[in-house]
Amino acid sequence: MNIFTKTRYKNKSAKSQKINFQEAVLNPSAPFGGLYTLENIPSKNFKEFIDFDYEKLTREIFSGLGISLDSDILKQALQSYEKFDDPKNPAPLVKIKKNLYSQELYHGPTRAFKDMALQPFGTILSALAAKENKKYLILTATSGDTGPATLKSLANTDNISVICLYPKGGTSDVQELQMLTQEGKNLKVFGINGNFDDAQSTLKSLLGDEDFKAELQKKDIYLSAANSVNFGRIAFQIIYHIWGYLNLVKNNHIKFGEEFYIVVPSGNFGNALGAFYAKKMGLPVKKIIISSNPNNILTEFIQTGIYNIKDKTLIKSYSPAMDILKSSNIERILFALFGGERTYELMENLQKNLHYEISSSELESLQNYFSAVSCTDRECLEYIKKSFNMGYLLDPHTATTLKGVDKFCKDVPTIICSTAEWTKFAPSVVEAIFDKKLNDKEAIAFMCEKNHMPTPDFIKNLFCKPMIHSKVLEKENIKSEILKWLDFK
Ligand SMILES: *Cc1c(COP(=O)(O)O)cnc(C)c1O
Repeated sequence: MNIFTKTRYKNKSAKSQKINFQEAVLNPSAPFGGLYTLENIPSKNFKEFIDFDYEKLTREIFSGLGISLDSDILKQALQSYEKFDDPKNPAPLVKIKKNLYSQELYHGPTRAFKDMALQPFGTILSALAAKENKKYLILTATSGDTGPATLKSLANTDNISVICLYPKGGTSDVQELQMLTQEGKNLKVFGINGNFDDAQSTLKSLLGDEDFKAELQKKDIYLSAANSVNFGRIAFQIIYHIWGYLNLVKNNHIKFGEEFYIVVPSGNFGNALGAFYAKKMGLPVKKIIISSNPNNILTEFIQTGIYNIKDKTLIKSYSPAMDILKSSNIERILFALFGGERTYELMENLQKNLHYEISSSELESLQNYFSAVSCTDRECLEYIKKSFNMGYLLDPHTATTLKGVDKFCKDVPTIICSTAEWTKFAPSVVEAIFDKKLNDKEAIAFMCEKNHMPTPDFIKNLFCKPMIHSKVLEKENIKSEILKWLDFK
């Protein structure tokens, strides 16, 4: 089924041919700019799904959306949840207090929510590459969690090589170690001198670089990407939002059909886009609350309709995975709400003037789905402490959601998306709760001792594994370094 269309077209006659899921996964960037996205989002009666297990729910939602994939490949992909703490419930809900639930999306192998999509997605990529009997180079740019999850998921898979770009100094030590110590002869990690936006724009320009693709073609290699520009990831990020709601119903926390809030700590807007599709399909989400950190461009946009990166520079915050100015997936929201021609216009403005503004009626339809709040670093630390004192330990990204809860979610059942285990950002957690400055290793040991917890398994080895990757590059040199690596690997 050809269900994907381009997010931008100049006029109706420039509308592209539609493509299917497999093509969208293997060629995530649409020609001449834009992304591939769902053309229509049909509604669903979720009541039938209440007793489904995770696999069956995924199958139903995919088939409802027209996402077609060999049944065996999907089965194999969903088996990657067997690496999660509880394979039957990969995204469990934890009650924090009355009407407030945390959906812990970090129980996979790299301890961040990126595993929810990237573990099954990796299986799909390598299976599709094998089926086509083609070799693929997968690019990924990371603000810290996508990198480890992609590398882990694709290490030593056939037909696939991976290049991972991360901003040197822009991640936590644990995140960096997860990448630099990851074994796999098909993997290469480069630090870049720059921030996440630089890494992501380098990735996007390589995806659209005809010379680069021609060079790869000579080596018989095709190009794809593992960032959330790839709809293959978004597909899996719809499911857990629905799973969370059905679990509230199953456990009698809410009656079927009763509304609830979802609060999402947002960066590239992939997680929030998944929630948007779930709401558009008919899940009774009262509103999706977006929390951002001091890089509050998303909050500004949702509050005012103005997306302005002109006078902004990226601020390094306590929630580095959200240190982003150019959120790729906003484009898919613009398409779903305003259509391809309008999206074309707005994205042209962004490219030319680093700025666009939607009309007041457009803003109203955006606000039917979203409200937004921005959380300062100081507030973030306060929320970590406050939550810890209530008996719930959370990481700095998830902490930003509590500001959204305070502002919007009075007396209505609310699910916050818990996007990382605290262990990935232990120094901030210790600073928040105990006002102490420690490094990652010390902070993890300190917290484990204080709370009488064993040191988590994945941490135990991380600090003594050998470093495999070490190169830090300037943006301009990335293309040639990739080609060099492909020749010598
Ligand atoms: C990636 C990430 C986010 C942001 O998610 P998006 O889908 O990019 O909006 C938030 N928190 C953590 C811990 C992350 O790794």
